[in-house]
Amino acid sequence: MWVYRSEIIAENSTPLPPGALVHVENERGKFLGTMLYSSSSQIALRKLTGERLETEQELLDLLRQRVRDALSYREQLLREEGSSNAARLIFSEADNLPGLIVDRYNDVLSLYSQTQAMDRPEIKQAIVTELQAELAPSGVAHIVERVEPHIRELEQLPPSENHLLWGEKTSTQYVLNGVRFHYDALSGQKTGAFLDQRENYAAAEKYAHGKALDVFCYQGGFALHLARACSEVTALDSSRPALEVAEENEKLNHGQSRPAIEWIEANAFDFLKDYSAAGRQYDTIILDPPAFAKTKRNLETALRGYKELNLRAVKMLRPGGVLVTCSCSYHVSEQDFTQMLTAAAVDAGRALRLLEIRTQSKDHPIVLGIPETHYLKCLICTVR
Ligand code: SAH
Repeated sequence: MWVYRSEIIAENSTPLPPGALVHVENERGKFLGTMLYSSSSQIALRKLTGERLETEQELLDLLRQRVRDALSYREQLLREEGSSNAARLIFSEADNLPGLIVDRYNDVLSLYSQTQAMDRPEIKQAIVTELQAELAPSGVAHIVERVEPHIRELEQLPPSENHLLWGEKTSTQYVLNGVRFHYDALSGQKTGAFLDQRENYAAAEKYAHGKALDVFCYQGGFALHLARACSEVTALDSSRPALEVAEENEKLNHGQSRPAIEWIEANAFDFLKDYSAAGRQYDTIILDPPAFAKTKRNLETALRGYKELNLRAVKMLRPGGVLVTCSCSYHVSEQDFTQMLTAAAVDAGRALRLLEIRTQSKDHPIVLGIPETHYLKCLICTVR
């Protein structure tokens, strides 16, 4: 639960310190819960618990308990799966740890505090200590703190750089569904991998065949999976640094007899236009663009963008071809997305059969009643 700044009627101590623990009541004096305060964000309060926490020690104990809960859920997931050693271990509200994200890449953890409260040294220390105690036995030996300058500015936190909190390594290799990847916590602006797509990579590979195209390939997540199932793979992205890592990732997976992936630096819209004009056809196409709808206000524009991409892709698929189409925009609902795809199919004059309606991997839990936790849509269709 969030309380926006505009909803606050009165504060009994002003000014509240950044990141403070606060007891919140509604206008009739009913206790709503203990929340964490931000003095700068529009989201002024994020609920931690319906209980009344009195002391800092109680707060730290609760946070440590929640870290353990989050880890035990993931431990079960990864144990069932066996062929991956990277996952999101803590996903903010979805794990009752608002403002905290922790990803595991094999032996390296990447920690990211999005709020004043989670940036408080004693809170961060308690979390790091818990992570160390719980995960060192399974081989975690390094923790990097990642920062996003824009978020720190919004939260009025002092500027900082990505840095080590524990251990000495900031880069490593990890495995998703048996595919190997490089991870470098300090390089570039990006966080690392799109771990939320892990289960969709495996699903895409299951249906993929023939000549495949991965549009918005980033560091090759889908493309490297497709290479295990397809005879030809082309992958494109507009980011040169992402493609450089993708090529390194491909080298890491050499050995098995797979087609060489053709990596292309291009704008996806131009590429699809040119290639479809040239009559190119594919048996499998992946569309995984960045979030087009950053706010509710640009939903219409975003849907136009999705439709253009999907229309071109559908037209370029041979009969029996497979389309894996994703949207990570929270503001685009599953219904909006399905309608957009239906309209694209109609315009293309093709029938689409829906094979799977998918979402983010289970290490990014969707909590009923917290709509923000459900953001990824992934539809898999076959085209007739
Ligand atoms: N499919 C990837 C994640 C894609 S993230 C994976 O599973 O790992 C979105 C990607 O789109 C980013 O790599 C970004 O560089 C790229 N991108 C953004 N705008 C683009 C455009 N207009 N044309 C091509 N690529 C673009």
